[in-house]
Amino acid sequence: MQPFCARISYALCMLGLLVLNVQASDRTTEQGEAAISNPYEECTSYGYEPVATQMKNYPGLWQLAAILPGDSAATDKWNSISSTISTNIPVKMLPPPSNYSSEDPDCWWTATQCTTAKLSSIPPDISASPEPSTLGYGFDDGPNCSHNAFYDFLQSQNQKATFYFIGSNVASFPLEAQRALTDGHEICAHTWSHPAMTTISSENAFAELWYCVQMIKLVIGVTPTCWRPPFGDVDDRIRAIANALGLQTIMWKYDTADASINGNTITEQTVEDNYNSFIDIASQGTFSSVGAILLTHERDNFTMSEAVKFYPQLKKVFQHIVPVGVSLNKTQPYIEAEYGLPSFEQYISGAVTNRLRPPKHLHQLIQTPANNRWLPRMRLKALLLWTLVAQLH
Ligand SMILES: [Zn+2]
Repeated sequence: MQPFCARISYALCMLGLLVLNVQASDRTTEQGEAAISNPYEECTSYGYEPVATQMKNYPGLWQLAAILPGDSAATDKWNSISSTISTNIPVKMLPPPSNYSSEDPDCWWTATQCTTAKLSSIPPDISASPEPSTLGYGFDDGPNCSHNAFYDFLQSQNQKATFYFIGSNVASFPLEAQRALTDGHEICAHTWSHPAMTTISSENAFAELWYCVQMIKLVIGVTPTCWRPPFGDVDDRIRAIANALGLQTIMWKYDTADASINGNTITEQTVEDNYNSFIDIASQGTFSSVGAILLTHERDNFTMSEAVKFYPQLKKVFQHIVPVGVSLNKTQPYIEAEYGLPSFEQYISGAVTNRLRPPKHLHQLIQTPANNRWLPRMRLKALLLWTLVAQLH
């Protein structure tokens, strides 16, 4: 580029390169974002007007959510459910103290791995796929900005999964979040800022779920009916809040520890060992009558690479690998009736998607052209500059 730049002023040249670079990738649509293959480019931040104009109505990114002053919808909802949330279950401290009752009165997963609520009004958590020899496949902590290679891989395998999205990530990477629905995956909530939920007040816990769900609805156009607690930290107080919001609690029984590497007790080798021992027990028929759910993450390049690496072996030892909602025959995964999941039978017969209409966000994007207005102007400038440079050359 040096001789090229020497012919015109350096500043003008750099401007030209900048403009051309902007033109190189389309950061305004789900399809444009999904087509980017350079991870650094994928992770360049971008503005998305539907989120930018609404952020004042959401908690700060990665800040513990609280009901915002003047948010009457959130306040009304909280007021309508708060009387049903037990005040006898205390806010917890982590790690679980040694004097916590061994009888586990609160069904506190972090202390005892309890998944069957002690409160009779709350359904048990989902921690396994009910279908034999079936893996309920899913990934926490997304959307990750550099996930295109991973999502491309899933597409190439005609494989759908469940994605547990963090609200703050959806706000930062909305087009990536949209890709999950467009690709036919199932979306569940994973809170606004990823706190240990039993350690925060009931009102904060409500707000963590409420704003995560609202952001998913704003960006993707669907309202999830499932959630996964960060770190699995849930008790009957938190279950009651999720349940009042129509969110089914999805846990796991097997953990790759792919997001827990600390360089000390948990290394990359530990994760490989965990995958291998899970594959071993699956190959021994452990899941021949009831399937499994394995904890894995979309969190970073390592976690996604491991998922790709072990996928062929998982395919060998499980008869079926399906989104968790499919394994539950949950054909209505969202409040919005126009988005369906196939039944388990449909999925394993090859009908891996069952969307009644195209994703709503594709229409929304056409109706909100503010972002799109910007790119044609940049393209025009790039064209003019390119013509000028060509004349000088
Ligand atoms: Zn998580």
